[in-house]
Amino acid sequence: MNKKEIALVAIAIVIPLTVIWVVYSVGLLSPKPTSSENGSQSNNSSSIIQSPSASPYTTAKVVASFFPLYDFAKHVGGNKVDVTTMVPVGVEPHDWEPTTQQIQRLLSADLFVYNGAGIDKWADKVETKLKVNASEGLPLLTDNHGNHDPHTWLDPVLAKRQVELIRNGLIKADPQNTDYYIQNAQSYIAQLDSLDAKIKSELSNCTKTDFIAFHSAFSYFSNRYGLHQHTILGEDPEGEIQPQTLEQLINFAKQYGIHVIYSEELIDPRNAQVIADEIPNGKVLVLSPIEGVKADEQQTGIGYLEKMQQNLENLKQGLDCK
Ligand SMILES: [Zn+2]
Repeated sequence: MNKKEIALVAIAIVIPLTVIWVVYSVGLLSPKPTSSENGSQSNNSSSIIQSPSASPYTTAKVVASFFPLYDFAKHVGGNKVDVTTMVPVGVEPHDWEPTTQQIQRLLSADLFVYNGAGIDKWADKVETKLKVNASEGLPLLTDNHGNHDPHTWLDPVLAKRQVELIRNGLIKADPQNTDYYIQNAQSYIAQLDSLDAKIKSELSNCTKTDFIAFHSAFSYFSNRYGLHQHTILGEDPEGEIQPQTLEQLINFAKQYGIHVIYSEELIDPRNAQVIADEIPNGKVLVLSPIEGVKADEQQTGIGYLEKMQQNLENLKQGLDCK
């Protein structure tokens, strides 16, 4: 190698190194903040305060009233949002009420997503920067007393509409990431379509259409897939169980050859076991209303889609599907 070649090799090494050093020193290669989607489903108050290290990558602060809306917002918002829930992990939302402090925290959110059909009545009154009523325009079922059935999310087709409402809310709250939210919503809606198709196909060849759920959360789901819901309790999963209801259900189960009684993850399974013990080959399985998850489930990052898969598997057992 002559002197000229040595000089050229030296330049070839020095120039790229200099460029890398300059780029790095102005921070273009510095690591991005951890996305809120990577398993950090925290619900405590500390998570709602944005870490100063997250700057200059600002994220929109989204608060959902309870679990399914939180999960939808997380999928649409991806790493551009920090999503938390009002109802704490492991708590049943039907009777839950926020404290003044929790409402104060909510007021600083860029977007608040709530069900708006009765399960989070407290949310109707709260005035925040931007609110999305995730039941707006949905065909709601109404009981004899004029109360809406809030369990829309358990029908994947209605869940798609809720995802669209959340997407629209995110675009309003954070218009610079419009394309990102549109793409995420599209891909999540595609997964909801697959789920809907799978449920239709796998429930198409079953011996039974009647099932005994714990509380009346599955009316939209049953209407969608041609099933008949019977329940131990009505609207409130923490209500009082009537002895005559238990007796009726035991007789009904015996008459129709029902051997699976459904409970919920946030409810004491002994309530369903009482019936299962009285019927031939009786057993208790979970049919989740997906109103919340247990603390250990939250650690695994389980979401709506996985919960619906589990429901489908357990329903197939109870309905004697081929
Ligand atoms: Zn419910």
